[in-house]
Amino acid sequence: MTDIQKDKVVSFHYTLKDESGTVIDKSEGQPLVYLHGASNIIPGLEKALVGKKVGDTLNVTVEPEEGYGEYSAEAVQEVPRNLFQGVDHIEPGMQFQAQTDDGMQVVVVKDVTEDSIIVDGNHPLAGQRLNFDVQVVEIRDATAEELSHGHAHGAGGHHH
Ligand code: ZN
Repeated sequence: MTDIQKDKVVSFHYTLKDESGTVIDKSEGQPLVYLHGASNIIPGLEKALVGKKVGDTLNVTVEPEEGYGEYSAEAVQEVPRNLFQGVDHIEPGMQFQAQTDDGMQVVVVKDVTEDSIIVDGNHPLAGQRLNFDVQVVEIRDATAEELSHGHAHGAGGHHH
């Protein structure tokens, strides 16, 4: 039976919990589909899936460095309010696309003062140890097109 390795397209169901056991995210109905070996999913989870077969279930704990990275205080920045031209109302929790040295990035508004906005560019799950319950649903060979694109196509994958 096929096992998970580079250039396989893998479908799996998952439940993601934080350290306190609260469910943060889960696959609803349709499994998540990814191309193995193409960094489509976080490194800690991809590593844990190597060699697994259809029907296997696993519990994986992923440390921040193998997940969404450590929380970086440098990613929290104060920016002048006039950079938000055309936005009438800004409040904590709002998300904006920002052009950074690393390309387009989502930043979350943390605080608002009269002259400036404090934004946080950390991933919402940065610095967190993550617990995944995973069940492998399907494993197949990637098509040549999927390999050239670096992601899975079809149900649960990219459509274009
Ligand atoms: Zn594609």
